[in-house]
Amino acid sequence: LKVAIFGAGRVGSTLAYTLAAAAAAREIVLIDAERAKAEGEAMDIAHAVPFFAPVRVRTGEIGDAAGAAVTVIAAGAAQRPGETRPQLAQRNVDMLRNVLPGLLEANPRGLLLVATNPVDTMTYAAARLSRLPSGRVFGSGTVLDTARLRSELSRHYGVDARNVHAYVLGEHGDSELVAWSAASLGGMPMQGSHLASIAARVRDAAYEIIRRKGATNFAIAAALTRIIEALGRDQSSVLTVSTLLDGPYGLRDVCLSLPAVIDAGGVHRVLELPLSADERAALRRSAQAVREALAHAGLAPREALAPSP
Ligand code: NAD
Repeated sequence: LKVAIFGAGRVGSTLAYTLAAAAAAREIVLIDAERAKAEGEAMDIAHAVPFFAPVRVRTGEIGDAAGAAVTVIAAGAAQRPGETRPQLAQRNVDMLRNVLPGLLEANPRGLLLVATNPVDTMTYAAARLSRLPSGRVFGSGTVLDTARLRSELSRHYGVDARNVHAYVLGEHGDSELVAWSAASLGGMPMQGSHLASIAARVRDAAYEIIRRKGATNFAIAAALTRIIEALGRDQSSVLTVSTLLDGPYGLRDVCLSLPAVIDAGGVHRVLELPLSADERAALRRSAQAVREALAHAGLAPREALAPSP
């Protein structure tokens, strides 16, 4: 499997390392505006490969995404002093607008996996601007938040996280929700007042980590690796990626996360969990929050968005 990573910062380079360690790729290409930094990362990771299974790690230009089964978008402009979130989003959307034509020319058949924040806005922009079938463009969405939730529940109950089935849905951000009515611990439903505080800790985890270490990289890299493993091995795994919706819960023309079946072709289908009335309402509010973010980033709904020439 060939994986191209656009953006070799903390997220992109940690992803490259994690992919190599997990033997989830045979070739990894790191692409970054700062070529020397990308080269340094590729060299460092390549020197770890003798301890792993064989994988070629190198740097390249956007044209070197040719033949990649998936291209990960992990490049991001850093927030400037005084810059608002919508302004930052607009800058990252502009970056996509610039890079997509060259990427699609080099690699018309691959999948696009978006990690850059705000991830739902960026996924929407990638889906609309690329005009690829919606199953081939998706974002890491709440795969990370879902892992955080399972990790917290695992700790609370003293049960292997792999036996904790619970999903974070909606926006990757403040309006996300936990589908408690569809959650179980080895088949047992979960109840109690502690669940609300666990959900709040999951929602605020990124702030807490960034406050301490300045960024997050390991868990997002593991989440991206898991998504790439699901598509690389055609596993039909259920993962809460962000996709352009057309129907579930009456939601259309917005990107957010719902449990989706991921196989070699990308998002095979989106599952509609039996949510409670409160959860449905929270999901609608989350969709509204994403729509407002889209509007602020200059992505008017259903607007004909053409890539710039
Ligand atoms: P970083 O600053 O360490 O790296 C960003 C990289 O992008 C830099 O190496 C920079 O040179 C490169 N870059 C910027 N503009 C570029 C361009 N036009 N062309 C090529 N390269 C370009 O940032 P990071 O910590 O790696 O985070 C990257 C993005 O991932 C951010 O948007 C961050 O918010 C997001 N992120 C998302 C999640 C998630 O759950 N989806 C989690 C963590 C981080």
